Amino acid sequence: MYDILVNNGKIVTADAVTAGNIAVKDGRIAAVLAEGIEPEASRVIDAKGNYVFPGAIDTHAHLNDPGYEWREDYEHGTAAAAVGGYTTVIDMPLQNEPAMTNADLFDRKEEKVSSNAYADYCFWGGLVPDNFEDLKGMHDKGCVAFKSFIGPVSPDYSSLNYGQAYEAMQRIKEFGGRAGFHCEDYSLIKWQEARMKREGRLDWQGFLDSRPVIAEMVATVDMIELAKATGCKVHICHVSSPDVAQKIKEAQQEGCDITAETCSHYLSLTDKDVIENGPLFKCAPPLRSQEEVDRLWKYVEDGTFSGIASDHSPCSYDEKFKEILGNKIENVFDVWGGISGIQSGFQVAFNEGCVKRDICPSVLADSMARRPAKAFGIYGRKGDIKPGFDADLVIVDPEREWEITGESLLYVNKISAFAGMKGKGLPVCTMIRGNVVAEDGKITAEKGVGELIRRLS
Ligand SMILES: [Zn+2]
Repeated sequence: MYDILVNNGKIVTADAVTAGNIAVKDGRIAAVLAEGIEPEASRVIDAKGNYVFPGAIDTHAHLNDPGYEWREDYEHGTAAAAVGGYTTVIDMPLQNEPAMTNADLFDRKEEKVSSNAYADYCFWGGLVPDNFEDLKGMHDKGCVAFKSFIGPVSPDYSSLNYGQAYEAMQRIKEFGGRAGFHCEDYSLIKWQEARMKREGRLDWQGFLDSRPVIAEMVATVDMIELAKATGCKVHICHVSSPDVAQKIKEAQQEGCDITAETCSHYLSLTDKDVIENGPLFKCAPPLRSQEEVDRLWKYVEDGTFSGIASDHSPCSYDEKFKEILGNKIENVFDVWGGISGIQSGFQVAFNEGCVKRDICPSVLADSMARRPAKAFGIYGRKGDIKPGFDADLVIVDPEREWEITGESLLYVNKISAFAGMKGKGLPVCTMIRGNVVAEDGKITAEKGVGELIRRLS
């Protein structure tokens, strides 16, 4: 006898969409069954002909806990993730106090957050100029990758120069880890920012022009070359440009183990939103043109990306519109950069991809579950609908229409660039290791149901 049978589903995997049923036992998928085969189970969940996706993996989120819980915390951030269909959140080490840069801090963070999580979570380890000796220790604890910046970053975290990145990659390569980079060239952006200020261009077009595609391109191409030189596995974070994606694709075709993610906002919002609506749409790299959004989808479809992440970067209302940590916002360059999207990412990707562009749902199962799980060493437990995998399932009603409102967001700060967006296709039930954690936008499980997932391979 099984614990749960999810019946009447259209089961979506990276390979196919098939009518069938899924049997769950002890939190894992016990059997994937053909339509009509319905063994006994303690509980039956009727998928009503809707899609049943593998739980999505958010490869890039800032939950800000511990340290900046007034921006976001585990309770709110993982609840929002679960409602939205991300069953595993890979949490960033920065915007933590202290930033998670050694093995002791790994344990302290886990102790602080574990009783508050609704979704499963993994940790990115920190990679900063002075912690190279600590990388192996974090790897051994189960960090799935190491996050670094090749561009400007907030004062509580430091960027690497190319020399430091080279040494870090050599070290990470030795123990088989993966280095992840925010790729925007530091000097190019700093110069452009100064130039915009010199020219009095303190408007949103000035902000966009301060972070051109070439800044992203230069840093990405350099990281690809460093990856080739060192043999280190590399992940390129939040790619905003199809031209950058093309370079990554070419490196992949040469046989380099370079993975990359884009984000739902780069696949749906544009530079026009930044110009017209300002602060809530500020992020880095910035939003690009509609033509680039359309071309970026081609790289989702062809499998270049191992992740459609949220890059959930929450902040308070004041940090978008008034002041940050006591410093008054004088112009666009002072505004907090970041978009809150962990609750909306899946439905936005579904609407933009499967509804508007008629892309097969299998593409999303591949780019949001299977490929990220493989890239971050958790495949085998996460990322697929197969016997033995964790029963992380998301039922998506493809006909359900939605409008994202501030009140519907479970964040600490209920503000987002996605508020006001309308679309079709909504996660209506989220199961994590056999626990029904969310239904119809509401949490249905106890706090602490989410667990730390350590790297498997
Ligand atoms: Zn980020």
